[in-house]
Amino acid sequence: MALDLREQFPLAPLSTLGVGGPARYYARVTSEDAVREGVAWARARDLPLFVLGGGSNVVLSDEGHPGLVLHLATRGIASRPAGDAVELTAEAGEPWDDLVAGAVAQGWAGLECLSGIPGLVGATPIQNVGAYGQEVGETVSSVEALDLQTGRVERLTSAQCGFAYRDSRFKSADKGRFIVLRVTYVLRPGGPPAVRYAELARSLEERALGAPSLAQVRETVIGLRRRKSMVLDPDDPNARSVGSFFTNPIVPAAVADDLEAALRRDGVLGEGERPPRFPAGDGRVKLSAAWLIERSGLAKGYQRGKVGLSSRHTLAIVNRGGAAASDVVALAREVRARVQDRFGVTLVPEPVFVGVSMEL
Ligand SMILES: Cc1cc2nc3c(=O)[nH]c(=O)nc-3n(C[C@H](O)[C@H](O)[C@H](O)COP(=O)(O)OP(=O)(O)OC[C@H]3O[C@@H](n4cnc5c(N)ncnc54)[C@H](O)[C@@H]3O)c2cc1C
Repeated sequence: MALDLREQFPLAPLSTLGVGGPARYYARVTSEDAVREGVAWARARDLPLFVLGGGSNVVLSDEGHPGLVLHLATRGIASRPAGDAVELTAEAGEPWDDLVAGAVAQGWAGLECLSGIPGLVGATPIQNVGAYGQEVGETVSSVEALDLQTGRVERLTSAQCGFAYRDSRFKSADKGRFIVLRVTYVLRPGGPPAVRYAELARSLEERALGAPSLAQVRETVIGLRRRKSMVLDPDDPNARSVGSFFTNPIVPAAVADDLEAALRRDGVLGEGERPPRFPAGDGRVKLSAAWLIERSGLAKGYQRGKVGLSSRHTLAIVNRGGAAASDVVALAREVRARVQDRFGVTLVPEPVFVGVSMEL
């Protein structure tokens, strides 16, 4: 099959943030053979390769991409029983939320809290997609990926993926080495939904559902996300983003204690108020990046030229129309510097930067 190659192909419309220049070469690939063909084509010309999924977690440079952008569009879903569980395998180009909806409709537990997250299946292991108390790494049993170092397709077990909070070997140690072809998730037929996240539990209680079903948890999660502009909705101007721009900082508990003491001393905290913190294991705690940003003096809706913070969530940087990647990066730097100056905590960006950097 010949690759359908395009030249100077605009990438901004393929990214949810809507920024970025053109790809020198671009191909939408719908089969594993086409993926291999694309890789070989770029190799033969010594061109850099970038794999694009749904474009919902990338900041693409204004100069565009100098090599080949392979847009993964492989489709297909299969399931098989595995003891008491079900193994659900999806090709990388399957839309993520459709897969979640299908699993919930079948009564298969394990993905329900990950409802409403944009993007494609192949990207879910990259940053160990997570929300509302659930992470994809909990259910991924294997990832089949083309290893660009060896040219072989490898089946990586969950343990070999190195999943961590919004991270995996694919995003850090082995960035750019693998093209994820398909992912297998192990789900529990008839299993209960995961209701671990306080805000989700409260919302379900308000609805007085008793023991909520998977479908009710999915609905509730989507409702909560919608209120924060965290679902893709063309009518919602706050949704032109990559979702959360920064991860929640994980620090030793002693650092969080010192921070809280300093804020109390400075009279920053209200009566009985504590900065939000959640246990993160190994004596560490997770702080709320959104809280730190707000308390650094940047409010929801803060505007800087053509970009701003979402009017519903300080963690999302939004393209207000006609913005460039450089505008997004300038605001991200401002946010990071404010939080650093005020609290001594360095925020880490969540999206993948392509040809552009947060560093000066
Ligand atoms: C409104 C909104 C809300 C969001 N909410 C959440 C949330 O709650 N939780 C969360 O974790 N994320 C969230 N995100 C971020 C994003 O949706 C996820 O990270 C998603 O998994 C990205 O998928 P994608 O297909 O769009 O990936 P892309 O943005 O296309 O790519 C992201 C990275 O993955 C790589 N990649 C993509 N596909 C492959 C592949 N097949 N093989 C190898 N590498 C690949 C790319 O090269 C890039 O480095 C949100 C984004 C938006 C816009």
